[in-house]
Amino acid sequence: MRRRVAAAFAALAVVLTAAAPAGAGPTIEREWREVFSPDGTITKKYLPKEKRQSLAPRDFAAASAAGVTALQDTGPVGQRFDLVIVGDGYTASEQGLLRQHAEAKWSEIAATAPWNKYRNQINVWLVNVVSAQSGVDNDPSPGVSRDTALDMGFWCFNTERLLCVDEAKAQSYAAQAPAVDAIVAVGNSAKYGGAGYPSLSTVSGGNAQSAQVAIHELGHSVGGLADEYFSPGTYTGTEPAEPNITQSPSGTKWASYLGKPTPDGGVIGAYEGAGYYEHGLYRPSQDSLMRSLGKPFNSIGLDVMDRAISSKISTGLPTCPDPSPYALGRNCQRGPISASAGNLAYFWIYLPAGTTSLTITTSGGTGNADIYYNPGSWATRTTYSARSTNPGNTETLTVKNSAAGYRYISLYAASSFSGVTISTSY
Ligand SMILES: [Zn+2]
Repeated sequence: MRRRVAAAFAALAVVLTAAAPAGAGPTIEREWREVFSPDGTITKKYLPKEKRQSLAPRDFAAASAAGVTALQDTGPVGQRFDLVIVGDGYTASEQGLLRQHAEAKWSEIAATAPWNKYRNQINVWLVNVVSAQSGVDNDPSPGVSRDTALDMGFWCFNTERLLCVDEAKAQSYAAQAPAVDAIVAVGNSAKYGGAGYPSLSTVSGGNAQSAQVAIHELGHSVGGLADEYFSPGTYTGTEPAEPNITQSPSGTKWASYLGKPTPDGGVIGAYEGAGYYEHGLYRPSQDSLMRSLGKPFNSIGLDVMDRAISSKISTGLPTCPDPSPYALGRNCQRGPISASAGNLAYFWIYLPAGTTSLTITTSGGTGNADIYYNPGSWATRTTYSARSTNPGNTETLTVKNSAAGYRYISLYAASSFSGVTISTSY
């Protein structure tokens, strides 16, 4: 969901004028909610604000008793992006189904750029939230009520696809994970739908399309991106802070991208209609994920997301102190490295006396880099003493050491690779 104050005030004024004749009763507090249609269209509704009651002690007790499962644990939380999935409407005997739904959502997120680039450097935590009853409210039809841990339900504010949740309860369960960078709340339903909140998004667990809702919402919560869809109206506010919408009809905000191809099709330009206004605001591309579900991010969104995700990820090692691009040292990393298919990239390291073992790791980037190692001469694909040849770029090789001297490491491009980092520790 979006939180741009100018837009909210503009619409608030309209609503109050229309709904509050002179001397009328108390003002209804309202907030924007995004509504997602199965055809990928996103619209915005200005709806009464949901009541946020403080959490009852029993809610806290239940939240802190919930177990946490790592769908994938790729490293220390201080060096990783931590995505937390909580479930609602899954009973004690349905925790296996929750895991299945959570894995399906994660694999769809992880297949989408730029998440795919970092999929092996993201921790994914599943909080095993147990509900008293199975399913969510108003599913399959309005009036159906269920007792669930996070109070999720469709037909929120009379809007069929709007899948609301008690945000505070979802957050208190998510807090059980070792760290929280983003939250997705999965409801036990096959019906298409979802919703965006400042701190999380909801999706229906059993619906194959609904992960797109989470991917869009993560664009807001992780990347700080604006919506690029619009409805009739002219924007008259100041220049928006978000990186992907602007008042400039020439798109100077993203000048270095102009005219270049974008993953959602066509080239980057300044297309009128963005940030809920048909006129007066411009978006960088015709139809990106921030306008329609099922589309990729445009180049601007992609780069913003890439920086936001990667800023949480580190190997914990400093870059190598030696200025030589081929030299590795104690507990250092070097990158990004690239090589085309069939070629080798060479590195050396000097091991002082007393070194008993050397660990070499590679990670990140795209393609398939393999490690080949030799103690006394350049390692090749046919001459090596040890190697690590996983598919992809996540390799770890530990070798024993008995004498001081130079050691020779090659990265072989089983397929062309780029953006790979090599780390050494001894
Ligand atoms: Zn949105």
